[in-house]
Amino acid sequence: MSEYIPVNQPLLDGNEKKYLAECIDSGWISSEGPFVERFETEMAKRFGRKHAISVTNGTAAIDAAIEALEIGPGDEVILPSFTIISCLLQIIRIGAIPVLIDSDSITWNMDVSQIEKKITKKTKAIMVVHIYGLPVDMDIILQICKNYNLLLIEDAAELIGQNYKNKPCGSFGDISTFSFYPNKHITTGEGGMILTDDDTLAEKCRELRNLCFQKGKRFVHEKLGWNLRMTNMQAAIGVAQLERLDEFIDKKRWIGTSYNTLFENLNCVQLPLNKTSYADNIYWIYGIVIEESVEFSADIAIQLLEKLGIGCRPFFYPMHQQPILRKLGFFKDESYGVAERLYKRGFYLPSGLTLTKTEIERIAEMVHKIFV
Ligand SMILES: *Cc1c(COP(=O)(O)O)cnc(C)c1O
Repeated sequence: MSEYIPVNQPLLDGNEKKYLAECIDSGWISSEGPFVERFETEMAKRFGRKHAISVTNGTAAIDAAIEALEIGPGDEVILPSFTIISCLLQIIRIGAIPVLIDSDSITWNMDVSQIEKKITKKTKAIMVVHIYGLPVDMDIILQICKNYNLLLIEDAAELIGQNYKNKPCGSFGDISTFSFYPNKHITTGEGGMILTDDDTLAEKCRELRNLCFQKGKRFVHEKLGWNLRMTNMQAAIGVAQLERLDEFIDKKRWIGTSYNTLFENLNCVQLPLNKTSYADNIYWIYGIVIEESVEFSADIAIQLLEKLGIGCRPFFYPMHQQPILRKLGFFKDESYGVAERLYKRGFYLPSGLTLTKTEIERIAEMVHKIFV
Protein backbone atom coordinates (compact mmCIF):
# COMPACT_ATOMS: atom_id res chain seq x y z
CA MET A 1 0.00 0.00 0.00
CA SER A 2 1.44 3.37 -1.01
CA GLU A 3 1.54 6.23 1.42
CA TYR A 4 -1.44 8.53 1.97
CA ILE A 5 -1.17 11.72 -0.08
CA PRO A 6 -2.49 14.69 1.95
CA VAL A 7 -4.54 17.41 0.29
CA ASN A 8 -1.82 19.93 1.12
CA GLN A 9 1.69 20.12 2.49
CA PRO A 10 3.69 23.35 2.73
CA LEU A 11 7.22 23.57 1.37
CA LEU A 12 9.56 25.00 4.02
CA ASP A 13 13.03 24.03 2.85
CA GLY A 14 14.42 27.47 1.99
CA ASN A 15 15.66 30.02 4.53
CA GLU A 16 12.78 29.44 6.97
CA LYS A 17 14.89 27.60 9.54
CA LYS A 18 17.75 30.06 9.29
CA TYR A 19 15.55 33.12 9.80
CA LEU A 20 13.60 31.46 12.61
CA ALA A 21 16.87 30.67 14.36
CA GLU A 22 17.75 34.37 14.10
CA CYS A 23 14.53 35.22 15.97
CA ILE A 24 15.32 32.78 18.74
CA ASP A 25 19.00 33.64 18.99
CA SER A 26 18.25 37.36 19.16
CA GLY A 27 15.27 37.00 21.50
CA TRP A 28 13.00 38.88 19.07
CA ILE A 29 9.93 36.67 19.02
CA SER A 30 7.08 39.21 19.45
CA SER A 31 5.70 41.57 16.82
CA GLU A 32 8.44 44.07 17.69
CA GLY A 33 11.15 42.12 15.85
CA PRO A 34 12.78 43.27 12.58
CA PHE A 35 11.34 40.59 10.29
CA VAL A 36 7.84 42.07 10.62
CA GLU A 37 8.80 45.35 8.99
CA ARG A 38 11.02 43.58 6.47
CA PHE A 39 8.19 41.25 5.44
CA GLU A 40 5.79 44.20 5.10
CA THR A 41 8.25 46.25 3.07
CA GLU A 42 9.00 43.37 0.72
CA MET A 43 5.33 42.50 0.29
CA ALA A 44 4.41 46.13 -0.48
CA LYS A 45 7.19 46.27 -3.06
CA ARG A 46 6.32 42.94 -4.66
CA PHE A 47 2.64 43.83 -5.04
CA GLY A 48 3.15 47.45 -5.99
CA ARG A 49 1.35 48.91 -2.98
CA LYS A 50 2.32 51.83 -0.77
CA HIS A 51 1.44 50.04 2.47
CA ALA A 52 1.45 46.44 3.64
CA ILE A 53 0.24 45.74 7.19
CA SER A 54 0.78 42.27 8.58
CA VAL A 55 -1.90 40.70 10.78
CA THR A 56 -2.67 37.41 12.50
CA ASN A 57 -4.62 35.79 9.65
CA GLY A 58 -6.55 36.44 6.47
CA THR A 59 -9.88 36.67 8.27
CA ALA A 60 -8.52 39.36 10.57
CA ALA A 61 -7.28 41.27 7.52
CA ILE A 62 -10.83 41.35 6.15
CA ASP A 63 -12.28 42.32 9.55
CA ALA A 64 -9.90 45.26 9.75
CA ALA A 65 -10.65 46.26 6.15
CA ILE A 66 -14.39 46.47 6.87
CA GLU A 67 -13.78 48.51 10.00
CA ALA A 68 -11.21 50.82 8.41
CA LEU A 69 -13.47 51.53 5.42
CA GLU A 70 -16.18 52.50 7.91
CA ILE A 71 -18.72 50.06 6.61
CA GLY A 72 -21.48 50.32 9.17
CA PRO A 73 -25.01 49.32 10.13
CA GLY A 74 -27.36 49.09 7.13
CA ASP A 75 -24.61 49.41 4.54
CA GLU A 76 -24.70 46.78 1.80
CA VAL A 77 -21.64 44.93 0.59
CA ILE A 78 -21.82 42.90 -2.62
CA LEU A 79 -19.83 39.66 -2.66
CA PRO A 80 -20.01 36.11 -3.99
CA SER A 81 -22.07 33.38 -2.29
CA PHE A 82 -19.37 30.88 -3.25
CA THR A 83 -16.66 31.91 -0.79
CA ILE A 84 -15.36 31.36 2.74
CA ILE A 85 -17.28 32.73 5.72
CA SER A 86 -14.30 34.95 6.62
CA CYS A 87 -15.61 37.40 4.03
CA LEU A 88 -18.94 37.92 5.83
CA LEU A 89 -18.13 37.81 9.54
CA GLN A 90 -17.34 41.44 10.22
CA ILE A 91 -19.98 42.66 7.78
CA ILE A 92 -22.56 40.83 9.86
CA ARG A 93 -21.12 41.68 13.26
CA ILE A 94 -21.13 45.39 12.47
CA GLY A 95 -24.76 45.22 11.30
CA ALA A 96 -24.04 45.70 7.61
CA ILE A 97 -25.76 43.54 4.98
CA PRO A 98 -24.05 41.02 2.72
CA VAL A 99 -25.62 40.97 -0.75
CA LEU A 100 -24.75 37.82 -2.66
CA ILE A 101 -23.91 37.11 -6.29
CA ASP A 102 -23.92 33.67 -7.95
CA SER A 103 -20.83 32.19 -9.57
CA ASP A 104 -19.82 31.91 -13.18
CA SER A 105 -20.01 28.21 -14.05
CA ILE A 106 -16.72 28.18 -15.98
CA THR A 107 -14.34 30.29 -13.86
CA TRP A 108 -16.21 29.69 -10.55
CA ASN A 109 -15.70 33.37 -9.70
CA MET A 110 -18.48 35.82 -8.93
CA ASP A 111 -20.57 36.36 -12.09
CA VAL A 112 -19.75 40.01 -12.73
CA SER A 113 -22.69 40.42 -15.13
CA GLN A 114 -25.07 40.10 -12.16
CA ILE A 115 -23.59 42.79 -9.97
CA GLU A 116 -25.27 45.94 -11.29
CA LYS A 117 -28.81 44.76 -10.70
CA LYS A 118 -27.98 44.24 -7.01
CA ILE A 119 -26.75 47.78 -6.47
CA THR A 120 -29.03 49.97 -4.33
CA LYS A 121 -28.74 53.32 -2.58
CA LYS A 122 -27.31 51.48 0.41
CA THR A 123 -24.54 49.71 -1.49
CA LYS A 124 -21.23 50.83 -0.06
CA ALA A 125 -18.69 48.34 -1.34
CA ILE A 126 -17.96 45.37 -3.56
CA MET A 127 -15.85 42.59 -2.11
CA VAL A 128 -14.09 40.67 -4.83
CA VAL A 129 -12.85 37.18 -3.96
CA HIS A 130 -10.54 35.50 -6.46
CA ILE A 131 -11.47 31.83 -6.39
CA TYR A 132 -9.11 28.85 -6.74
CA GLY A 133 -6.90 29.96 -9.63
CA LEU A 134 -8.35 32.56 -11.95
CA PRO A 135 -8.88 36.22 -11.02
CA VAL A 136 -12.22 37.98 -11.18
CA ASP A 137 -12.54 40.12 -14.32
CA MET A 138 -11.28 43.30 -12.65
CA ASP A 139 -11.82 45.80 -15.50
CA ILE A 140 -15.56 45.30 -15.18
CA ILE A 141 -15.43 45.59 -11.39
CA LEU A 142 -13.32 48.75 -11.48
CA GLN A 143 -15.73 50.31 -13.96
CA ILE A 144 -18.74 49.50 -11.77
CA CYS A 145 -17.00 50.87 -8.67
CA LYS A 146 -16.25 54.06 -10.54
CA ASN A 147 -19.73 54.45 -12.01
CA TYR A 148 -21.51 53.92 -8.70
CA ASN A 149 -18.84 55.37 -6.42
CA LEU A 150 -18.32 52.14 -4.50
CA LEU A 151 -15.41 51.03 -2.34
CA LEU A 152 -13.50 47.96 -3.46
CA ILE A 153 -12.27 45.27 -1.10
CA GLU A 154 -10.16 42.60 -2.77
CA ASP A 155 -9.71 39.26 -1.01
CA ALA A 156 -6.69 37.88 -2.85
CA ALA A 157 -5.90 35.15 -0.28
CA GLU A 158 -5.99 32.42 -2.90
CA LEU A 159 -4.09 34.17 -5.66
CA ILE A 160 -0.88 35.48 -4.12
CA GLY A 161 1.36 35.89 -7.15
CA GLN A 162 -1.38 35.72 -9.79
CA ASN A 163 -1.81 38.61 -12.23
CA TYR A 164 -4.81 40.16 -13.87
CA LYS A 165 -3.52 41.50 -17.21
CA ASN A 166 0.03 41.91 -15.84
CA LYS A 167 -1.13 43.68 -12.68
CA PRO A 168 -0.83 41.64 -9.49
CA CYS A 169 -3.88 40.40 -7.64
CA GLY A 170 -3.77 42.25 -4.36
CA SER A 171 -3.10 45.56 -6.09
CA PHE A 172 -6.68 46.44 -7.02
CA GLY A 173 -8.65 47.09 -3.84
CA ASP A 174 -8.99 50.28 -1.83
CA ILE A 175 -7.95 47.59 0.60
CA SER A 176 -6.70 44.19 -0.55
CA THR A 177 -6.04 41.23 1.73
CA PHE A 178 -3.96 38.06 1.77
CA SER A 179 -3.87 34.99 3.99
CA PHE A 180 -0.74 32.98 4.77
CA TYR A 181 -2.44 29.84 6.00
CA PRO A 182 -0.31 26.78 5.07
CA ASN A 183 -2.35 25.97 1.98
CA LYS A 184 -1.85 29.45 0.48
CA HIS A 185 0.92 30.22 -2.01
CA ILE A 186 3.19 31.46 0.74
CA THR A 187 2.66 30.64 4.40
CA THR A 188 3.56 31.94 7.83
CA GLY A 189 1.68 29.15 9.63
CA GLU A 190 -1.10 31.57 10.48
CA GLY A 191 -0.95 35.08 9.11
CA GLY A 192 -2.42 37.70 6.85
CA MET A 193 -1.68 41.01 5.16
CA ILE A 194 -3.60 44.18 4.44
CA LEU A 195 -2.51 46.16 1.38
CA THR A 196 -3.47 49.71 0.48
CA ASP A 197 -2.13 52.85 -1.18
CA ASP A 198 -4.09 55.16 1.09
CA ASP A 199 -2.11 56.65 4.01
CA THR A 200 -5.19 57.25 6.16
CA LEU A 201 -6.55 53.73 5.68
CA ALA A 202 -3.11 52.29 6.40
CA GLU A 203 -2.83 54.27 9.62
CA LYS A 204 -6.32 53.14 10.67
CA CYS A 205 -5.45 49.50 10.01
CA ARG A 206 -2.22 49.81 12.00
CA GLU A 207 -4.18 51.28 14.92
CA LEU A 208 -6.88 48.61 14.74
CA ARG A 209 -4.20 45.92 14.70
CA ASN A 210 -2.61 47.27 17.86
CA LEU A 211 -5.57 47.76 20.26
CA CYS A 212 -5.86 51.40 19.15
CA PHE A 213 -3.10 52.33 21.55
CA GLN A 214 -2.45 56.02 21.16
CA LYS A 215 0.89 57.62 20.60
CA GLY A 216 1.78 59.59 23.70
CA LYS A 217 -1.12 58.42 25.87
CA ARG A 218 -0.65 54.70 25.26
CA PHE A 219 -3.29 53.33 27.61
CA VAL A 220 -5.92 55.98 26.93
CA HIS A 221 -8.31 54.75 24.22
CA GLU A 222 -10.54 56.75 21.90
CA LYS A 223 -11.42 53.74 19.71
CA LEU A 224 -11.99 50.00 19.99
CA GLY A 225 -9.32 47.91 18.33
CA TRP A 226 -8.11 44.34 18.23
CA ASN A 227 -4.81 42.63 18.81
CA LEU A 228 -4.00 41.40 15.30
CA ARG A 229 -0.22 41.55 15.53
CA MET A 230 1.91 39.08 13.58
CA THR A 231 4.96 37.75 15.42
CA ASN A 232 8.55 38.15 14.29
CA MET A 233 8.72 34.35 13.95
CA GLN A 234 5.80 34.26 11.54
CA ALA A 235 7.26 37.15 9.56
CA ALA A 236 10.64 35.40 9.43
CA ILE A 237 9.01 32.43 7.74
CA GLY A 238 7.10 34.83 5.48
CA VAL A 239 10.30 36.53 4.29
CA ALA A 240 11.80 33.13 3.44
CA GLN A 241 8.63 32.06 1.65
CA LEU A 242 8.36 35.28 -0.35
CA GLU A 243 11.89 34.70 -1.69
CA ARG A 244 10.48 31.63 -3.45
CA LEU A 245 7.09 32.86 -4.60
CA ASP A 246 7.92 32.72 -8.32
CA GLU A 247 9.22 29.20 -7.97
CA PHE A 248 6.06 28.21 -6.05
CA ILE A 249 3.84 29.66 -8.76
CA ASP A 250 5.71 27.72 -11.43
CA LYS A 251 5.27 24.57 -9.37
CA LYS A 252 1.52 25.17 -8.96
CA ARG A 253 1.15 25.69 -12.71
CA TRP A 254 3.12 22.52 -13.33
CA ILE A 255 0.83 20.59 -10.95
CA GLY A 256 -2.28 22.01 -12.64
CA THR A 257 -1.18 21.34 -16.19
CA SER A 258 0.05 17.86 -15.25
CA TYR A 259 -3.41 17.00 -13.93
CA ASN A 260 -5.04 18.56 -16.99
CA THR A 261 -3.01 16.33 -19.29
CA LEU A 262 -3.73 13.20 -17.26
CA PHE A 263 -7.47 13.98 -17.23
CA GLU A 264 -7.70 14.86 -20.92
CA ASN A 265 -9.94 11.87 -21.63
CA LEU A 266 -11.97 12.01 -18.44
CA ASN A 267 -15.22 13.30 -19.88
CA CYS A 268 -17.38 13.04 -16.81
CA VAL A 269 -15.74 15.92 -14.93
CA GLN A 270 -15.31 19.62 -15.62
CA LEU A 271 -11.64 20.57 -15.32
CA PRO A 272 -10.40 24.00 -14.31
CA LEU A 273 -10.09 26.41 -17.20
CA ASN A 274 -6.46 26.72 -18.28
CA LYS A 275 -6.67 30.41 -19.14
CA THR A 276 -8.95 33.32 -19.87
CA SER A 277 -8.29 36.42 -21.96
CA TYR A 278 -6.93 38.13 -18.84
CA ALA A 279 -4.99 35.46 -16.92
CA ASP A 280 -3.38 32.03 -16.97
CA ASN A 281 -4.71 29.76 -14.25
CA ILE A 282 -2.40 29.62 -11.22
CA TYR A 283 -4.09 26.44 -9.85
CA TRP A 284 -4.00 27.44 -6.18
CA ILE A 285 -5.97 24.27 -5.69
CA TYR A 286 -6.82 21.77 -8.41
CA GLY A 287 -10.61 21.54 -8.36
CA ILE A 288 -12.87 19.40 -10.51
CA VAL A 289 -16.65 19.38 -10.89
CA ILE A 290 -18.47 16.10 -11.50
CA GLU A 291 -20.86 16.25 -14.46
CA GLU A 292 -24.57 15.42 -14.03
CA SER A 293 -24.06 12.18 -16.00
CA VAL A 294 -22.32 10.67 -12.95
CA GLU A 295 -24.76 9.32 -10.38
CA PHE A 296 -22.73 10.21 -7.29
CA SER A 297 -21.78 13.62 -5.92
CA ALA A 298 -18.56 15.13 -4.57
CA ASP A 299 -19.06 13.79 -1.03
CA ILE A 300 -18.98 10.21 -2.32
CA ALA A 301 -16.03 10.88 -4.62
CA ILE A 302 -14.11 12.32 -1.67
CA GLN A 303 -14.88 9.23 0.45
CA LEU A 304 -13.85 6.86 -2.33
CA LEU A 305 -10.58 8.69 -2.90
CA GLU A 306 -9.84 8.87 0.84
CA LYS A 307 -10.15 5.08 0.94
CA LEU A 308 -7.64 4.91 -1.91
CA GLY A 309 -5.19 7.07 0.05
CA ILE A 310 -5.86 10.41 -1.61
CA GLY A 311 -6.72 13.44 0.55
CA CYS A 312 -9.45 15.63 -0.95
CA ARG A 313 -11.57 18.58 0.18
CA PRO A 314 -15.06 19.73 -0.76
CA PHE A 315 -15.63 23.07 -2.47
CA PHE A 316 -17.06 26.00 -0.48
CA TYR A 317 -20.54 25.64 0.98
CA PRO A 318 -22.48 28.65 -0.37
CA MET A 319 -23.06 31.50 2.05
CA HIS A 320 -26.81 31.69 1.35
CA GLN A 321 -27.18 28.11 2.61
CA GLN A 322 -25.16 28.51 5.82
CA PRO A 323 -27.31 27.45 8.78
CA ILE A 324 -26.06 30.22 11.05
CA LEU A 325 -26.68 32.93 8.46
CA ARG A 326 -30.18 31.60 7.75
CA LYS A 327 -30.83 31.55 11.49
CA LEU A 328 -29.77 35.18 11.70
CA GLY A 329 -32.40 35.98 9.08
CA PHE A 330 -30.22 36.39 6.00
CA PHE A 331 -30.88 35.06 2.48
CA LYS A 332 -34.32 33.62 3.31
CA ASP A 333 -35.68 32.93 -0.18
CA GLU A 334 -32.44 33.22 -2.07
CA SER A 335 -30.94 30.51 -4.22
CA TYR A 336 -27.88 30.58 -6.43
CA GLY A 337 -27.86 27.59 -8.72
CA VAL A 338 -24.25 27.63 -9.83
CA ALA A 339 -22.84 28.01 -6.32
CA GLU A 340 -25.15 25.23 -5.11
CA ARG A 341 -24.04 22.92 -7.90
CA LEU A 342 -20.36 23.71 -7.34
CA TYR A 343 -20.70 22.65 -3.73
CA LYS A 344 -22.60 19.46 -4.59
CA ARG A 345 -20.43 18.36 -7.48
CA GLY A 346 -17.06 20.02 -6.88
CA PHE A 347 -14.03 19.01 -4.84
CA TYR A 348 -10.31 19.39 -5.02
CA LEU A 349 -7.41 17.02 -5.27
CA PRO A 350 -4.03 17.22 -3.50
CA SER A 351 -2.51 20.51 -4.65
CA GLY A 352 0.38 21.14 -2.26
CA LEU A 353 3.81 22.32 -3.26
CA THR A 354 5.56 19.09 -2.25
CA LEU A 355 3.72 16.93 -4.82
CA THR A 356 5.88 14.76 -7.07
CA LYS A 357 5.22 13.51 -10.59
CA THR A 358 4.77 9.97 -9.28
CA GLU A 359 2.19 11.16 -6.74
CA ILE A 360 0.26 13.13 -9.33
CA GLU A 361 0.19 10.08 -11.60
CA ARG A 362 -1.08 7.88 -8.77
CA ILE A 363 -3.77 10.44 -7.87
CA ALA A 364 -4.87 10.61 -11.51
CA GLU A 365 -5.00 6.83 -11.73
CA MET A 366 -7.25 6.66 -8.64
CA VAL A 367 -9.51 9.42 -9.98
CA HIS A 368 -9.94 7.46 -13.22
CA LYS A 369 -10.67 4.38 -11.15
CA ILE A 370 -13.59 5.90 -9.22
CA PHE A 371 -15.26 7.22 -12.37
CA VAL A 372 -15.28 3.98 -14.43
C1 LIG B 1 -7.95 31.23 3.34
C2 LIG B 1 -8.89 32.29 2.97
C3 LIG B 1 -9.29 33.27 3.89
C4 LIG B 1 -9.02 33.18 5.35
O1 LIG B 1 -7.72 33.22 5.72
P1 LIG B 1 -7.28 32.72 7.18
O2 LIG B 1 -5.85 33.10 7.22
O3 LIG B 1 -7.50 31.24 7.23
O4 LIG B 1 -8.09 33.45 8.18
C5 LIG B 1 -10.07 34.31 3.44
N1 LIG B 1 -10.49 34.35 2.17
C6 LIG B 1 -10.16 33.41 1.27
C7 LIG B 1 -10.66 33.54 -0.12
C8 LIG B 1 -9.38 32.33 1.65
O5 LIG B 1 -9.08 31.39 0.75
